[in-house]
Amino acid sequence: MKTQSLFEYPCPECGIGKVHTTRVRNYKTKIKGYPFIVDEALIGVCDHRGVEQFAPEETRRWEEQFFRVLEARHAFLSPQEITALRNTLGLSMEDFGRLIGCTRQSISAWEKVDRAASPSWMADLLMKLVRQSLHAGMVDVLRMLLDEAKQWGVVIEIRSRAISPEEREDVALRTKRVRREVPS
Ligand SMILES: [Zn+2]
Repeated sequence: MKTQSLFEYPCPECGIGKVHTTRVRNYKTKIKGYPFIVDEALIGVCDHRGVEQFAPEETRRWEEQFFRVLEARHAFLSPQEITALRNTLGLSMEDFGRLIGCTRQSISAWEKVDRAASPSWMADLLMKLVRQSLHAGMVDVLRMLLDEAKQWGVVIEIRSRAISPEEREDVALRTKRVRREVPS
C-alpha cells in the first residue's frame, strides 16, 4: 500500500490546513455498526483542526480484517455447518439458495472449506434462523436476532410499550422500523 501518499492534500473541511497520513494504533471504529478496533489504521488528519479523513481502500482493508476476526471467532456458520444444514433439509445448493434468497454460486462459495468469503451477515442470520426452526420448530425471531447482536457487542433496545393487537405490525426498533404483516 502506498502509505505515504494516501492522504496528502489540502483539507477539504476547513480549507486552511493540510491533511497528512497518520498511523494510529488500536483505532476505534465501527464496521457495519459493530464496534471494532483496527490494530494499525491509516487515517488522514488535518494539521489545522485535526479533522479525520478516510480512504476507501483503507476502510475496505479494515472491513476485511473485521471479517477475518469474525471468521476466527466463529461468528458465522462454518462451511461444514452450512453443508450439514442443507443436507438435513435435503436440498440441492440451488434450492437452498432459492430458499434463503441467494444464488447457488453463493452457497457453493460459503460451503468451500477454504472459503475466501464469509456469508453476508444477513445470509448468516437467516441460515441460523432456518437451523433453529428446523431443530426447535418455533423460533422467536426477534429474540434470536437481539441475542446475536448482543454477542457482538451491540445492544439493541426495543422501545416497546403496550402493543394492542391492531398495532402489532408497528414494532419500532431504535435503529430501524420493521413492518410485518398481521394475519387477518
Ligand atoms: Zn482542516
